[in-house]
Amino acid sequence: MARKDKQKPRRGAVPLERLRTFGDPALKQQANPVTVFDSRLVKLAETMLAVMHREEGVGLAAPQIGVLSRMIVWHHPEDENEEYVFVNPRIVSMSEERSLAGEGCLSVPGCTVEVERANEVRIAAQNLEGVEFEADAAGLIARILQHEIDHLDGRLIVDRAAPEERRRVLKELRERAIESGT
Ligand code: ZN
Repeated sequence: MARKDKQKPRRGAVPLERLRTFGDPALKQQANPVTVFDSRLVKLAETMLAVMHREEGVGLAAPQIGVLSRMIVWHHPEDENEEYVFVNPRIVSMSEERSLAGEGCLSVPGCTVEVERANEVRIAAQNLEGVEFEADAAGLIARILQHEIDHLDGRLIVDRAAPEERRRVLKELRERAIESGT
């Protein structure tokens, strides 16, 4: 998910992984469960965290760099150093109370889409060693987690938008593609 306030550039080596954007087939696929918890998975998590910071996002899902594995990374909206890696995350329960708010996505650059999300969610996931845990989230963090888990099921913010909002955004994206000649 894209963050609203731009922050300072990040320390460390910048990975070369290209961020996949709207229209890329990787963003429409169902990602596969992670079954092997090895050093390659740790490396993937490091790369994802670095790309998230490079792109100044608050969260990133593996399909956004073309890897169809069920893994997301995110950081606390108020502290980019408080980072998390969730492997095979799934929503086990969500509140009935929902709210509508503008949401950005690194893969849908420049667009803000009104998306309705549950206010609170309970997530079950595994860490990089394969240990299972559960986490409760509310507010913006709950929104980030729902957004990133959507990516693992090939769903983007435009797919969550109300029909009229969806038409508006798709039109905007089309026009921008024409302008840039892509
Ligand atoms: Zn996104």
